[in-house]
Amino acid sequence: MYQKEFLDFGTTSYTEKTRAVVKVQDGCDRFCSYCIIPYARGHVRSRKIESIVEEVKAIAEEGIKEVVITGIHVASYGKDFKEDIGLIDLLEEINKIEGIKRIRLSSIEPTIITEEFLARLTKLEKICDHFHLSLQSGCDETLKRMNRRYTAEEFKECTELLKKAYPNVALTTDIIVGFPGETDEEFEKTYQFLKDINFYMMHIFKYSPRKGTKAAVMANQIDGKLKEERSRRLIELSRKNEIEHNERYIGKEVEVLFEEREGDYIKGHTTNYMVVKVPYKEIENTIEKVKVEKEENLELVGNV
Ligand code: SF4
Repeated sequence: MYQKEFLDFGTTSYTEKTRAVVKVQDGCDRFCSYCIIPYARGHVRSRKIESIVEEVKAIAEEGIKEVVITGIHVASYGKDFKEDIGLIDLLEEINKIEGIKRIRLSSIEPTIITEEFLARLTKLEKICDHFHLSLQSGCDETLKRMNRRYTAEEFKECTELLKKAYPNVALTTDIIVGFPGETDEEFEKTYQFLKDINFYMMHIFKYSPRKGTKAAVMANQIDGKLKEERSRRLIELSRKNEIEHNERYIGKEVEVLFEEREGDYIKGHTTNYMVVKVPYKEIENTIEKVKVEKEENLELVGNV
């Protein structure tokens, strides 16, 4: 078990045996109207590339094969440096580290996805084709009240670039339902938008006010029952998408990093984040090719 304290960030980077979570920055300057983080954690502060590379090398020496790059607002990595250094520069350095086989990005702001960014990213063979882009709403009016700084159309363009660059990409997202003032019409816009993008998986949150934020004192707070109903519809859609995505792999071969035993099975993830299990063998922390036989409870079952 790898464990290291980063006192300057007040956080701990911790891992399982196969995957390490590496925090590369703290703070956020975006001030979404529902979020307390910019007040609670302050401005963007990024760790130096050298310090992160040193940590990832140590992780690789432990035999860990996958790193998850995380932070409060990862897309802002480097914004506080005098030099012109950004997330892509960091990823290029991590990609060079021997022993690391996979680099997974945790949640990223969609607007970082540009043609220039992808031209460099797609050259890095260790980057996982799984991207978590926080959308929050697919309706421009709601996005505006949330103070998210993109439109639904701009978000869609980012997802199209990713789909073009990574043919098997899994896009996941976070959605808030019942944001103050969200009318039936606004929610329907979001619903149709989500159907259109066809996310692999969506995390649905029912809006809950955070004291000290602008959204907490907005008019037209939404009734709990309505939030519940909207949440249920989106959870259903997410589940349907996930099953359809998984079923496309039946009969195909996928590469899995095996993580842990579960009863008579051992399971792990593909680069595009599907959970795959096979009858137990001692293959923990190895990457194996698996022939997929079926989909079962949002997981794929197959044989090595
Ligand atoms: S939701 Fe994310 S981007 Fe928005 S203020 Fe909070 S941490 Fe920053």
